[in-house]
This record gives sequence, C-alpha cells and structure tokens, in this order.
Amino acid sequence: MKIFCGGAGQEVGRSHFVIEQDGFRVGLDAGIKIIEDRGIEYPILQDNIKFLVLTHAHMDHSGYVPALDKSIPVYMTKPTLLASEHMWIDAIKVARKRNRPPDYTPRDIRRVLRDAEILDYGEWGASYGVRFKMLRAGHLLGASMVYLEMGGKRILYTGDFKYQDTELIRRAEPPPQVDILIIESTYWYQNHPDRRSQIQRIYEVVDRTIDMGGVALFPAFSLGRTQDLISILVDRYKNRVPIYVDGLGKKINLVYRSFRDELIDRGFLKKLDEIDEIDGMKRRSKILDQPGIIISSSGMLEGGPALYYVFNLNKNSSIILTGYQIRGSNGYRLINYNKIKMNDVELRVDLPVYHISISAHGDRGDIMEFIQRSSPEKIVLVHSDSSNIFQEELRTEHGYQVFSPTTGQWLDL
Ligand SMILES: [Zn+2]
Ligand SMILES: [Zn+2]
Repeated sequence: MKIFCGGAGQEVGRSHFVIEQDGFRVGLDAGIKIIEDRGIEYPILQDNIKFLVLTHAHMDHSGYVPALDKSIPVYMTKPTLLASEHMWIDAIKVARKRNRPPDYTPRDIRRVLRDAEILDYGEWGASYGVRFKMLRAGHLLGASMVYLEMGGKRILYTGDFKYQDTELIRRAEPPPQVDILIIESTYWYQNHPDRRSQIQRIYEVVDRTIDMGGVALFPAFSLGRTQDLISILVDRYKNRVPIYVDGLGKKINLVYRSFRDELIDRGFLKKLDEIDEIDGMKRRSKILDQPGIIISSSGMLEGGPALYYVFNLNKNSSIILTGYQIRGSNGYRLINYNKIKMNDVELRVDLPVYHISISAHGDRGDIMEFIQRSSPEKIVLVHSDSSNIFQEELRTEHGYQVFSPTTGQWLDL
C-alpha cells in the first residue's frame, strides 16, 4: 500500500492525501493554504482518483474541492456540505476583491452541491470494493474522521479532531483498532491549558476592557470559533454591552442553527438571537465609540472585517486571539511583534494583544491516547510544522513505526 502526501506534510494547511492499492486511488481532503504574504499554496494532485472523502469544511481541508476533476465523487457529512458552500462562495468573492482569478466558478460549487454523496456518522459508504465510514471528530459541527477498509488494511484518517467536549460540540469518538493511522499532530508538543481557566482569562480581559470603555475584538475563524465564542460570551455579557458578529461567521451561524440537535449547548439558538450582526462600513464605524464585543473574521487577520476593526478601535480596546496562528500570518505577527502587514507595509498596532487559546484540536495527551487505543502497525503524522521531531520521539522512545512525510512525498507502507 502507498500513501501520497499532497499537502499538510510537515506543515499546517492544504491537507490532501492519496491512498493507493494496486493502482487504485482514494483521495482524502483537498485544502489550500492562504497566507496573503505568499499567496495561495495548493495541494499537489495525482491523476486517477476514484473518489474523495472530505473531513470538514475548513478551507485547509476543503478549499480545493470545487476545482477538482468533475468526475470524482466527493463524500462528506451534511453540515460539512452546507458550511463548505459558504466558504467556497466567500473564496470567490475574496479572489475577485484582490484581483486574483478564482480557482472555481459558482457553477463548480453548484455542481459539487448537487453531486455530493452525503454520509451520516457511522453510515457505511462503499465504492469500488472499498468500505468506509465517517466517525465523529469533535473539532466542529459535521467534522469527521474517515475509517477505511482497503486492500485488506484498516485505515483511520483523523482529519482535525478534538477528544474533549467543548461548549457546543461533542468530542471525537474513540478510535477503532487499525493497521494504519494517519493522524493530525498540530499540538503534539504540548497539553492544552485547562479550557475553563482559559475562558476565565478571556472573561477577565473582556471585563477590564469594557470597564474602561473599550471594545474587545475577537478576530475568529468564521466556522467553529465564531460559534464557540458566541456560546461562551453571550449569557455573561448580553445585558452589559452589545455583542456584534461580522464577516462570514454570520452565514455559518445559519448552518449551526439548522443542526441544533448536534449541539451540546441547548441555549445556543437563543444566544444567536441576542447577537447584533454587522453589515457594511457605515455601521462598522459607528459601533466603535461605545464599549462592546466584536467577533469577526478572519481568525489569523489575513483579511475580513477584523482588519478594519484592528486599525479603528478606540485606545481602551483589546484584541484577543483564541486560535492557532500559522507562522507568517498576521495573527502570528501581531502576537509576536505587535505588527500587521497590509499591502507589503508593516503597521504597528498600539493596543494590548492577548493570545488565549481555546483550541479545537487534540493536544499531546489526546494524540498519545489515540495512538495507544488504535494500536496501529504504522503511523503517518500530518498537519504539524514539526512532525519530524515527534516522529523521532515516537520511534526511539515508544518503538512505533512512524512516518512524517513532507508535502509531495510518496510513502511505501
Ligand atoms: Zn479544521
Ligand atoms: Zn486543519
């Protein structure tokens, strides 16, 4: 059996993998990596993919799907399809705004929507003698791990997973025993700080900020993190200050609305009703004089209304980043150097910046537990900047047969 790493090999972004058995090829995810500084990085593709399974709607997993060969059937969960639609439409808008040719057309998106093969968690799909199913991955609404039986081997690809409940989403289900485990290892090097104490820290910063008359700005991924923050912030602050949501997150809220039974937070729909959605520059400029909370895309400040807010907040305001920041992104620059790069110019941001992570990924403990439970013969580490170091550790200290491919590499397993 061979596995091709077409992206997310010793990097985070543009996840894409191909599993090959006797010349027969199955694809997993097809994402892109967007760092405005460098442009878009695409997955490396192979011919002859019989079908593709998409784990979730984040662009680093889904962003290239509408541009794939039209004859490739794509399997995914229903929430992933509905959320992806918004992400893809937005990607075309962003490309046009930046005078970049879009990678696909609205028509391509409609075709994927029409032809997508929908699978529920636990439901078996079968194609060309390969059996596979989606398993709950925790990470966000609709996110799945993919379990495949192919060429006599049992394979689990985790996609992005979280092995703890969050406010909204139930945790990943325990992994089955497999022969080959392809596992995201974003946070292999650390355990997450206790989530409740992180949320407490967020409350402290917001309290302090609004007491001084400032605005607490949360640049946030529109899919997943925006909804986490709504769940965390609304009840505590709704009677004190207005809570605004701006950017693509507004559309994604609609998707969360339509899958209410999937959500742990039973009061979430009520919380959505408390939110004030912001559209257009005129309103944006009007909400910054009074204390308030703004949740706005994008999560790494690579675009979206969050960039406008950063440069127009009043001086008592704070910026709170809660997600993973890719090296080279504006979020990374802001945390480390208090700077943001726009149109090739670095601008200083003279406001307090906090990085209080409430991660949607598994941490070191979760990753180790996943490995032990699935007791794989072979492990493929993906979706991490430094998986090669983790590979060394797993091999020398734990005796596993481990691979840490770079993007573009074929593995012979
Ligand atoms: Zn993700
Ligand atoms: Zn990812």
